[in-house]
Amino acid sequence: MANHPTRNQPLQQSKNPDLTVLRTDMDGFWIMDLHGHLLEANERYCRMSGYTTAELLAMAIADLDACETAEEIAVRIRAVVSRDETRFETRHRRKDGSVYDIEVSARYLPVEDGRIVVYLRDITGRKQAEEALRNSLKTSDDIVNAIPAGFFIYQFVEPDRLLLVSGNPAAERLSGIRCADWQGREFNEIWPAAKELGITESYLQVMRTGETFETEDIYYQDDKVSGAFRIRAFELPGKKLAVAFENITERRKAEEALRQSEALTTAILDNLPVGIAVNSVDPAVTFEYMNDNFPGCYRTTREKLADPDSFWSAVYEDPDFREKIKKRVLEDCASGDPRRMYWPNVPITRTGKATTYITARNIPVPDKQLMISMVWDVTEYIRAEEAKEKLQEQLTQAQKMESVGRLAGGVAHDFNNMLGVILGHAELALERIDPADPLHDDLLQIQLAARRSGDLTRQLLAFARKQTVLPKVLDLNSAVEGMLKMLQRLIGEDIDLLWRPGRETGSVKMDPAQLNQILANLCVNARDAIKDVGTVTIETDKASFDEQYCADHPDCVPGENYVLLAMSDNGCGMEKETIDKAFEPFFTTKEVGQGTGLGLSTVYGIVRQNNGFIDVDSEPGQGTTFRVYLPRRADGAGTAGSKKPEKQMARGNETVLLVEDEPALLAMGSRMLERQGYRVLAAATPAEAVLMAEKLPAGEVHLLLTDVVMPEMNGRDLAATLASIHPGLKCLFMSGYTANVIAHHGVLDEGVHFIQKPFSAKDLAVEIRETLDSTAGDGPSAP
Ligand code: ADP
Ligand code: MG
Repeated sequence: MANHPTRNQPLQQSKNPDLTVLRTDMDGFWIMDLHGHLLEANERYCRMSGYTTAELLAMAIADLDACETAEEIAVRIRAVVSRDETRFETRHRRKDGSVYDIEVSARYLPVEDGRIVVYLRDITGRKQAEEALRNSLKTSDDIVNAIPAGFFIYQFVEPDRLLLVSGNPAAERLSGIRCADWQGREFNEIWPAAKELGITESYLQVMRTGETFETEDIYYQDDKVSGAFRIRAFELPGKKLAVAFENITERRKAEEALRQSEALTTAILDNLPVGIAVNSVDPAVTFEYMNDNFPGCYRTTREKLADPDSFWSAVYEDPDFREKIKKRVLEDCASGDPRRMYWPNVPITRTGKATTYITARNIPVPDKQLMISMVWDVTEYIRAEEAKEKLQEQLTQAQKMESVGRLAGGVAHDFNNMLGVILGHAELALERIDPADPLHDDLLQIQLAARRSGDLTRQLLAFARKQTVLPKVLDLNSAVEGMLKMLQRLIGEDIDLLWRPGRETGSVKMDPAQLNQILANLCVNARDAIKDVGTVTIETDKASFDEQYCADHPDCVPGENYVLLAMSDNGCGMEKETIDKAFEPFFTTKEVGQGTGLGLSTVYGIVRQNNGFIDVDSEPGQGTTFRVYLPRRADGAGTAGSKKPEKQMARGNETVLLVEDEPALLAMGSRMLERQGYRVLAAATPAEAVLMAEKLPAGEVHLLLTDVVMPEMNGRDLAATLASIHPGLKCLFMSGYTANVIAHHGVLDEGVHFIQKPFSAKDLAVEIRETLDSTAGDGPSAP
């Protein structure tokens, strides 16, 4: 410690009256000499420092100051002395060693050998506050510098200028400018595109009104920067404007990408050919999602499905099925098992409108039990499958008919031959017996029965569609009239048959059996449509077609060149769908066993075969009219064809080569011909016939009478072979049916002579004579 020359000299002995005035207890207070020794210290400083007055009076300033060295203190004292007064801050050490901040105000008193008055103020609190302020300023700076949002501050200068003050690093990064380069420059100069966008005005508005300006999405572009920004501008004290902003370009891009990918996902899901839905069942059905196809699979709407009240009935029409499925869905849903598949055994559900295949699964998500379902609309597929099945059935049925037909045809063929023998012999016997003889009547009965049997086999052949068509010119009215009795029998007594023949209707050229078949088939349908009582009307007339009709029917020729055969009934009529299909083979609305579906198709076939047309008019409950149009034979008008010319038992003496593989028929045929005066060469096979013909000089065989269907060679080929040996050979075919050997599609070639088995001696005589007398060109041409 330094030398203290005045230490024992108490202050109160001071002669300077001013000193009293200077004493205070507000702050610490010392009086010290120029060496720094304390001469006086007040109570307050004692409290501040923890020393007693006595202790302090034994100390110098250097013992108390914690910061400054003795030299520094000496410098300070000199400064105080020279400047008369000084004020500074330092730190003092308390008695307990702790240090505190202190503000020192010192003043030199030029009294005696010089004194210094010192005021000492504990400034620890102020220091702390200052420190806190410094720290907080630093903190907010740090924050502003650290936040990722950009932050610019502008100085507002009345009336409309904004000058850049500063910006945080984020602002520089986001906007692409360096604040140092633009400090003090005007807003519009820094941001040349801002005025146009109205930003400048909005900022000035903030300064004028004090209201914050905020905007979501501004797209700003100039040479320095471009992008989408979100901005918030507000007033700061000192007429400053703060602009906080974010560059949201990337976020917008990401959002847009997300939107696009969502749109793509939606488009994909909505365009899938299956219905997809996600829903919960607890127990009401609530949809989280359904794609566009989903409601369509059930032929219903989104709204109906989304409404829990209508969901089940919209999806499952059948109440029993609905309950079954509902129970199952609830159970499966409650199980929560994600592997659990719904309806593994009931893949197909039907509503009246649609057939669907469904598969569904639980999807476990927190707090919820969802299921995802996929629905396929298999309506068309199932329909096609069913149609295929039906077609298969029809095919089977057709094949059955075909084989039954073949069987019937075969039987009829052989049976016809036998009938021929019976008929022939009966005829021969009848010729030789006296009509008074009791046997004469028996023979007549045999002949009658054989003829009836012949009719039966003809029907069998018709059914087998093996009948040969023998078109004849028929007067339509007479032909129909001839059928009326039979038709009335067909339709029964409860149905009236009205016959309205047209005047001068005209003739058609067709096989009478075919005309009969048309009438019979249409009549049977009319009867079936009427059920109990009603009327069937048959009308005929001349008919003509206009150009319009002909345009729709390419084979039709305009003019008055058709006959009309119309059959009307007042029965049940037909729906449009039925009319569309009525002519299809095997189409029937009748119960199994009741209809074959062949009636109208046969009619159609016949009409087309004869170059005609058929139309139908029908309304449900209003009855039906079928109109058949057939080409009219102008020449044949009158009775041609309806009355057969009286057949004469014609005779001849030419040579006839008879070929027949059925021996009984061969023998009988020979006998018949010989009785009619012909010379007969009888051959049992085609080969034998060729041998016989070769033995005779050319031209000596005049006529070939041959069966058509024979084991080795058919009749037509035989005729061709023989014609090369005997040019000009005439030919008469005989058959129960012809297959396609001498007829195409059942119609005999023009000029082919044909006799239907069984035949009588008289029939044969007529046909033989006709053939022999026909002109040369009429013979069969070589194939
Ligand atoms: P089928 O009589 O064996 O059913 P068709 O070919 O004769 O076969 O007739 C086909 C269908 O056309 C019938 O099942 C019936 O539905 C309808 N149809 C034919 N004629 C009439 C008619 N006169 N009135 C009402 N429906 C008819
Ligand atoms: Mg029918």
